[in-house]
Amino acid sequence: MKKRYFLALTVSFLLAFPLLAQQRTLLHCGNLFDGVRNDLQREMTVVVEGTKITAIQKGYAKPAASDRLIDLKSKTVLPGLIDMHVHLEGETRRGGTIDRFTMNVPDVAFQSTKYALNTLLAGFTTVRDLGGSGVNVALRNAINRGLIDGPRIFTAGRIIATTGGHADPTNGYRKDLMGDPGPNEGIINGPDDARKAVRQRYKDGSDLIKITATGGVLSNAKDGSGPQFTEEEVRAVVEAAKDYGFAVAAHAHGAEGMKRAIRAGVTTIEHGTMMDDEAIELFKKHGTYYVPTIIAGKVTSDSAKIFGYYPPFVTRKALAIGPLIQGTFAKAYKAGVKIAFGTDAGVFVHGYNAKEFEYMVEAGMPPLEAIQSALMVNAELLGMKTQIGSVETGKLADLIAVDENPVQNIKTLQQVRFVMKEGKVYKQ
Ligand SMILES: [Zn+2]
Repeated sequence: MKKRYFLALTVSFLLAFPLLAQQRTLLHCGNLFDGVRNDLQREMTVVVEGTKITAIQKGYAKPAASDRLIDLKSKTVLPGLIDMHVHLEGETRRGGTIDRFTMNVPDVAFQSTKYALNTLLAGFTTVRDLGGSGVNVALRNAINRGLIDGPRIFTAGRIIATTGGHADPTNGYRKDLMGDPGPNEGIINGPDDARKAVRQRYKDGSDLIKITATGGVLSNAKDGSGPQFTEEEVRAVVEAAKDYGFAVAAHAHGAEGMKRAIRAGVTTIEHGTMMDDEAIELFKKHGTYYVPTIIAGKVTSDSAKIFGYYPPFVTRKALAIGPLIQGTFAKAYKAGVKIAFGTDAGVFVHGYNAKEFEYMVEAGMPPLEAIQSALMVNAELLGMKTQIGSVETGKLADLIAVDENPVQNIKTLQQVRFVMKEGKVYKQ
């Protein structure tokens, strides 16, 4: 009896397993932009097994009976897009400054799941979350465990700032609520604090480090561009980060704080608004990447024109700084600074990230390069170049589809029709 049961189990296992193991998905792609070649390939088949791309063939391969066929013959298929700068815990809204006094951690967590989903459905299969309360670490874990749907996340956890600096979580508070946050909360003063804060991020489960090297627009503080770290402090952050394999992303609007950060060896400069010629030379000398976030500048300055949208300090800074970023981008691109695609989503509504491509092209970057800046450039910066960023055999099956050729009409990326992440279809 026992033996027969075992036999039956073995037979059913043998019958079921090959089906599971060999269930292939064939994508018939009208056009394929693979992120490696510079042109579109017509009438291609991408074969997906499990989480990976296992073959790419010319023509529309005939599916076997057990294969799943996805017809994208009228579409252009591309690798999943990568955004180097989002904040998935929150989203802008009029008078939203009050949220940090009224929202509990679970409230932030629930809303972040919606923002993560909207990001994925917009075709961004991988993002870098550049700062929140630490919910972003739990959000990444929940997505990795398959509990909720969202992009693959590399998160900075909590930002590192200096006392009163752009990411000091108590800026603008009543004095008795301010307290004196330290490295654990992300506030450092001096190299020792800097090292402690980096190690705390490692302990918390961050994937990288974010610092606010200068003032910023959305903090309730007077200055939006002056330096807020000494070069020695940034250097301590960068050196400690290296021990854990962390990249360092530095928010910077003003030139002085930006230069200190570049000289100290950060990986990327975010926003870069008041980049001058000397800063441009430093970018090139150190191989630092520029993450522009043009859309964030445009949306914040537009929102600042709506009465009561931001507190007075913020309104003034948003109007002064926001409109400058596109011009800075144009200048940096022309000068040969390396550009990595990033938007600062959360400062605007999640899911509109691809509008950034339009602004990049408007400022003089060829569409092909703009698209590449969100593919292999970012994959490499994330240490993921063998796994994402292009459609190649052996890579993870992160694929999206749009109606038109994005090189001819960059706006088509704002209407993503199909999304697959690691072989699973999220939008069709
Ligand atoms: Zn940001």
